[in-house]
Amino acid sequence: MVNMKINGMSLSVPKEMTILEAARTANIEIPTLCYLKEINQIGACRICVVEVKGARTLVAACTYPVAEGMEVWTNTEKVQKSRRMTLELILSNHQRHCLSCIRSGNCELQRLCWLFGVDDEHTYDGYNPEYDFDDSAMHMVRNNNKCILCRRCEAACARLQNVGVIGPNDRGFDTHIGCAFDQNLDEVACVSCGQCIVVCPTGAIHEKDQTQKVWDALNDPEKHVIVQTAPSIRATIGEAFGLPIGTDATGKMVAALRRLGFDGVYDTDFAADMTIMEEAHELLERVKNGGTLPLITSCSPGWVSFCEHYYPEFIPNLSTCKSPQQMFGAIAKTWYAKKHNIDPKNLFVVGVMPCTAKKFEVNREDENAAGVPDCDVALTTREISRMMKRAGLDFVNLPDEEFDAPLGESTGAGTIFGATGGVMEAALRTAVYWLTGDEASPVDFVEVRGMDGIKEATYKVGDLEVNVAIASGLGNADRLLKRVKKGEKKYHFIEIMGCPGGCINGGGQPVQPAHIRNFIDLRALRAAVLYNQDKGNQLRKSHENPMVKMLYDEWFEGPGSHKAHEALHTSYKVRSHF
Ligand code: SF4
Ligand code: SF4
Ligand code: SF4
Repeated sequence: MVNMKINGMSLSVPKEMTILEAARTANIEIPTLCYLKEINQIGACRICVVEVKGARTLVAACTYPVAEGMEVWTNTEKVQKSRRMTLELILSNHQRHCLSCIRSGNCELQRLCWLFGVDDEHTYDGYNPEYDFDDSAMHMVRNNNKCILCRRCEAACARLQNVGVIGPNDRGFDTHIGCAFDQNLDEVACVSCGQCIVVCPTGAIHEKDQTQKVWDALNDPEKHVIVQTAPSIRATIGEAFGLPIGTDATGKMVAALRRLGFDGVYDTDFAADMTIMEEAHELLERVKNGGTLPLITSCSPGWVSFCEHYYPEFIPNLSTCKSPQQMFGAIAKTWYAKKHNIDPKNLFVVGVMPCTAKKFEVNREDENAAGVPDCDVALTTREISRMMKRAGLDFVNLPDEEFDAPLGESTGAGTIFGATGGVMEAALRTAVYWLTGDEASPVDFVEVRGMDGIKEATYKVGDLEVNVAIASGLGNADRLLKRVKKGEKKYHFIEIMGCPGGCINGGGQPVQPAHIRNFIDLRALRAAVLYNQDKGNQLRKSHENPMVKMLYDEWFEGPGSHKAHEALHTSYKVRSHF
């Protein structure tokens, strides 16, 4: 520990801390723009400058280490003047379209300009090249005219995800973010995860907004429009309406969706239960019949895309199960359409998803069980929140309502899909029951829970010793797969989620600014909502879901049947990694 003073207050803090972290322990927020804990501590934006006794210049608090006897001032006139000037310089080449900008009201640059009293009248005349939008990809848009070169996106893509397809091009005033040789995003091996979007402090990167397509469908009398919400959305959507991180907003979300005019409000958790039935069956088949192992989960489209681009040798290991979003769509366009006498062409299925890669997923080949795409549009949590706001819904004060039956029925196993380890735990609950036939087989597999990037466990099931591993975030997936390739450890079953922490931290979730993201474990708070729901659910194993049983009896003829394979399974292909 070291003893120091910040703004005259005495503190004792660990000697490894930076001034920024030390100030936080005293509840002092030092503003930042480029800083992202652990992955982007580059001291580039100079917004976090502070005065340190004895230092000749202002220092960047995000990189400057604390020291015994240090005295720091975070808010002097000199500091404020410097921050104001930096903001004015940033604004000098910024496309200031706050009125309609997708991030207006949740923009870190806008907030700081407001805090420091910087407006249009005070900016310098900057060098203002006009950059074209890159809207080539299915999932996101890049607008360099709003980029402040903080490089958080580069850090997320390269250091969190080990993908590294975006970064700075050119030098000096011409520096701009782009792909190698200024290719478009759809020409490089971007996996659509959206992790660059959730760390961008401004409107320079955002999801491709598809809300108009949904408004159009809702207004089309020919269309029967149904919506499904992924397990994690209930744990995050409240944030878009000012509710605390970690609020369970399931009932209000359902009520809001119903008031938007959907003909059915359903739960992807139901399809998550179906996924477990198919995937646990696939695991046991592969174990019994000497199939390709380890079986690797396939419900995260960011991960599936990463596998196709960067690890094609693991394609045979990928479960052939479609993701829950796509299974839901396949069930809707076949069984549901028939039951309600609807032409699948007029059934419009909307997914509310944690992840921008779901936008890519709805366009995958071999995902059209009824001859039309299984799902029509995948909206992020951010997009559906904007629709609710535009419709004037007072989300916070809506009554709690229930999902519609029968595709709204789910177990706790389906719910925990939204957090890292959840798919593994859900699959184990059913696989162990099937192997042992024991009605009292275990429900809690706590070793696979938690926010560690890589987790491992071994379970004894009957005569079998089952080795499992879980990775979340593609950087961790990369590390785990390298170990598997080297033969360091043999696993039977691996769960991989494209986003760190799983879907609760997906690239389509509400954007929390860095001053919150850096100091609060939002992943753990969001995941707790799902585990609480699981605990409170009387049904906690997918095979206990009565609607799943009914669907297999009435339509699919049992897990792994030919009919189930036709509708609920898919195939993969090698994609270029350049
Ligand atoms: S990025 Fe921020 S400052 Fe720039 S136009 Fe959008 S809201 Fe305004
Ligand atoms: S979406 Fe993911 S892979 Fe693509 S540029 Fe962003 S962080 Fe990189
Ligand atoms: S695109 Fe966003 S995250 Fe990337 S450098 Fe520009 S402002 Fe920063």
